[in-house]
Amino acid sequence: MPTWSRKFAFGVAVVALTAPVLATHSWSTYHWKRTTSELTVPTGDNVDLRWDSYLNMAITDWNQSAVINSAKVAGSTNPKNCRGVSGTIQVCNAKYGQTGWLGIASISLSGGHIVQGTTKLNDTYFDTAKYNTPAWRALVMCQEIGHDYGLGHQDEDFNTDNTASCMDYTSVPEGNEHPDAHDYEQLLTIYNHMESATMTIGGNGRSAGAGFAEPGDTPAAWGRPVRFDRQGRPIVFVREEAAGKTITHVFWAIGEGPRRSR
Ligand SMILES: [Zn+2]
Ligand SMILES: [Zn+2]
Repeated sequence: MPTWSRKFAFGVAVVALTAPVLATHSWSTYHWKRTTSELTVPTGDNVDLRWDSYLNMAITDWNQSAVINSAKVAGSTNPKNCRGVSGTIQVCNAKYGQTGWLGIASISLSGGHIVQGTTKLNDTYFDTAKYNTPAWRALVMCQEIGHDYGLGHQDEDFNTDNTASCMDYTSVPEGNEHPDAHDYEQLLTIYNHMESATMTIGGNGRSAGAGFAEPGDTPAAWGRPVRFDRQGRPIVFVREEAAGKTITHVFWAIGEGPRRSR
């Protein structure tokens, strides 16, 4: 049971019983600090020509949210390791090798807030016929940037396609290229408060959040697995660091990735 259900079980028990299955959303309270009505974390473009239109589309899609207004800016990291830059989301593509994953999103937290986010898209797979399609590229780009804003998945079974959202694990990417209404609702829930500008502890100024390790390419670099998909593969990792902690979301390729050890 997601933690939100436990937390609000008394108040909304009746509602929960009748709520449609699709209203579930793997819950997290991870969010950027917001001191104005819109979150204006810039998105750094470290992708090449093959990805530019998908990056533009994902930024435009997420900016449809009432709480997000992100400008695309020039990239400021090396796409090969895609080290995070405080106060920004950095989006990268490269041939990261036969890692098993199509994309990963890493968010670093300090003082209770996201202070930097990264998205890595693995051309080792997107250069193959199976994944070199507009739908796969759009789905994974959209999903990883969604994670960088703190969103979880609506569905974690690759054998189903029961949403029209990009925050869905599926083997049928067509129809899942964009956020859906529930994703936007979820963002309103996550960003339901503003912090005062004088509350600077763990703020997302460019200097805060420095000192995190680069995202890494393997489970060994991502820390402790804390969540698994319906196929039993670890999909969320937590790495404790001196500067805070880094959460990594993994989008495994179909049939790839490690199994849950018994
Ligand atoms: Zn907050
Ligand atoms: Zn994901």
